[in-house]
Amino acid sequence: MFADTKKLLLKAQQGKYAIAHFNINNLEIVQGVVQAAMKLKAPIILATSEGALKYAGMNYLYALAKIASEQANVPLALHLDHGKDLDLIKQAIQKGYSSVMIDASHQKFEKNITLTKHVVALAHKKGISVEAELGTIGGAEDLVSSRNIIYTDPEKAKEFVDRTGCDFLAVAIGTSHGAYKFKSHANLQLGILGRIQSKVKVPLVLHGASGVPSALVSVAQKYGADLSGVKGVPDSQIKKAIMGGITKINTDTDLRIAFDAAVRKALHTKPAEFDPRHMLAPARDLIQKVAEQRIRLFGSIGKG
Ligand SMILES: [Zn+2]
Repeated sequence: MFADTKKLLLKAQQGKYAIAHFNINNLEIVQGVVQAAMKLKAPIILATSEGALKYAGMNYLYALAKIASEQANVPLALHLDHGKDLDLIKQAIQKGYSSVMIDASHQKFEKNITLTKHVVALAHKKGISVEAELGTIGGAEDLVSSRNIIYTDPEKAKEFVDRTGCDFLAVAIGTSHGAYKFKSHANLQLGILGRIQSKVKVPLVLHGASGVPSALVSVAQKYGADLSGVKGVPDSQIKKAIMGGITKINTDTDLRIAFDAAVRKALHTKPAEFDPRHMLAPARDLIQKVAEQRIRLFGSIGKG
């Protein structure tokens, strides 16, 4: 029913493009990103973070993703993003997710290996693939936050993948979670990425890589949002990262800003409106637009 995340990523690795991972929290986000995928014939990954599962519940989000995958004419995978709670990871495996992420990157190297190995054993028994993380991605989002960025060590990355058997690896090369990513500007360490790629053969994943497009921010700000100081990763650096071996790129912040901008605009321009559908339909439409831009940038258009 759901697409196999690992297969999607291995194909992307060969074809030198990246699969879009979109974080989902509600109906409108699911419909927006899935409509984008269908329009552009692109495979995508729907991802639920621990925060999203706390907000909506796994059963609801799973059901939304399931209906979407049944109706879509493109491959859709379902992924657990930043799994830290072992019970939740087990639930996702039991439920039939395509893949899970074990995020033990905040732990010491050996402990990260032990925890990741454990999840790999559980998941592989059910044919589910596993994303792990080594290094520290900066910024804050949902239940994940870190003050500093600690780049992934290429040698350690090789040892980590060899010893854990993880299927894909999230790397820290200078990206940052959330909307307030950088004090000055993005500066992805493509040299480090190159060294990781030469040693590690599994697909590589980029977190904290939203573009925070200024056109979107301007709309939100025009209708009252306080977003001063937000900063994203420019498209040019994303393209270089894909050429450097990144095959899965997570997008959450850009969808949130789209949602925020559209709802603010709808409320502001039609103050007499009180039908939630008339507030949320524009958000769904703008999310679709943003998702389409991401898919085009990642080069996965027509790959479904
Ligand atoms: Zn992340």
